[in-house]
Amino acid sequence: MRKQIVAGNWKMNCTIEEGQKLTSEVVQLVQDEVQNEAEVIFVPPFIHLISLNERLPFKDQVLIGAQNCHQNESGAFTGEISASMIKSCGGSHVIIGHSERREYFGESDALLAEKVNTVLKNELTPIFCCGERLESREINTQEAVVGEQVRNALFHLTPEEISKVVIAYEPVWAIGTGKTASAEQAQEMHAFIRQAIAEKYSTDVADSISILYGGSVKPENAKEIFSKPDVDGGLIGGASLKSRDFVDIVKAFD
Ligand code: PEP
Repeated sequence: MRKQIVAGNWKMNCTIEEGQKLTSEVVQLVQDEVQNEAEVIFVPPFIHLISLNERLPFKDQVLIGAQNCHQNESGAFTGEISASMIKSCGGSHVIIGHSERREYFGESDALLAEKVNTVLKNELTPIFCCGERLESREINTQEAVVGEQVRNALFHLTPEEISKVVIAYEPVWAIGTGKTASAEQAQEMHAFIRQAIAEKYSTDVADSISILYGGSVKPENAKEIFSKPDVDGGLIGGASLKSRDFVDIVKAFD
């Protein structure tokens, strides 16, 4: 059985006070209402990691992660954060290659491959993001684009290593736009990614990897998207900032 996961990417939002309030609300609602065992991962800005870690009463189901890390272990990289620092704050996951990092910070597939290596070396779980832009979808080259992103950043890994990666398919045209991929479009791409992994590694490896969908997931569409056989959960942006909405998305697995 693959892990079902709902991860909330807060992006650059929330002061400490706002983050603590949001976390406490989500934790309470998860405790009171959630019937399933999906992993819930808070992915706040770095400054929140320590205070969130102190607020997680049941650490098996609710975890924390970071939105990025540097590819080097340490050193003269002003303004950056290392994987071991994230780990020392109680983080277990790191988002690698979010489309906003690719677009605004010029992160290339080659750099992302290095970051994935560093995250794994520090015994953290990368949540590797891939996804096509609208132009690609319009000319039906989405599989070629996503296939290349996955191959370039992940296919140097051993079977043991890639089995530890979580993949998030996030079509760029659906992120923060209110436009969601249909459940069928999500399933189609997830099945394509899984098939590519099966061809490179094995069916066992491909079947063990959780593939999340991201892009305007809301309580209203989560159940349908998560019901698809190759969709193992979601990476949630905007809706993760509202405790009620975020927990209702987690409850889509009930
Ligand atoms: C994201 O940033 O990963 C994301 C999916 O955002 P949103 O849910 O707001 O589209």
